[in-house]
Amino acid sequence: MGKVIAIANQKGGVGKTTTSINLAAGLAMEGRKVLVVDSDPQGNTTSGFGINKADVKQCIYDVMINEVPITDVIVRTGLENLDLVPATIQLAGAEIELVQVISREHRLKRSLQAIIDRYDYLLIDCPPSLGVLTVNSLTAADSVLIPIQCEFYALEGLGQLLNTIRIVQKHLNKRLEIEGVLLTMFDARTNLSVQVMEEVKKYFQNKVYRTVIPRNVRLSEAPSHGMPILLYDPRSRGAECYIELAKEVIRNG
Ligand code: ADP
Ligand code: MG
Repeated sequence: MGKVIAIANQKGGVGKTTTSINLAAGLAMEGRKVLVVDSDPQGNTTSGFGINKADVKQCIYDVMINEVPITDVIVRTGLENLDLVPATIQLAGAEIELVQVISREHRLKRSLQAIIDRYDYLLIDCPPSLGVLTVNSLTAADSVLIPIQCEFYALEGLGQLLNTIRIVQKHLNKRLEIEGVLLTMFDARTNLSVQVMEEVKKYFQNKVYRTVIPRNVRLSEAPSHGMPILLYDPRSRGAECYIELAKEVIRNG
């Protein structure tokens, strides 16, 4: 059975989507079969793989709300071993519509059951909120990977995230673990980045990945070309680091 990893932090712009796309590409490059589930109505993961959202007829919304089989919405990406469940803005309605649905928190988990054996890793890119979509992801997941941007206020809001994780562990998904904490957009030239790193390590200790993702302009350019960094610029620091991260995730089991 594949391992389901939710990539979550309710803060926007911390590198969830960049990590979903590029960790997935790294794992696929290492020969693992990977499914990325875009669970953010913004659909940045979907477009980051070069998929035109206007062409997406059915997305994760239809799977969660209309009970369309997930196999009907899975699309191939440009990489071998790497498939995607796309999201479009339609998913924004799910936050409200799910409120009235029975066992609403388990929708995604149930949808994934049908295909979980086909993949080694299933990565879920969460939206920047702690609403019902993120709770669905945490309920479906074996573990959660938390990207933290190395900037001022980096740790702000983490208490709320950890609290949500504890609530999900208590009521919805006992086996949910913290997969790891990933420092992103690290800039070794600034004291601030170094300070954030120290704080995060003090708090999360051995849960912090050895691999640190630097601020790298190639990483921010890749999505507009619809490619993971490993295709767009495989020699960049960004690409090297996401390959390193993929290896570390595999080693951690
Ligand atoms: P989130 O999904 O948490 O909102 P994103 O992954 O979309 O965050 O990243 C926010 C912005 O920062 C995007 O424009 C992205 O291209 C850019 N970005 C992410 N990681 C890096 C990095 N390591 N170096 C430079 N830019 C980055
Ligand atoms: Mg995102």
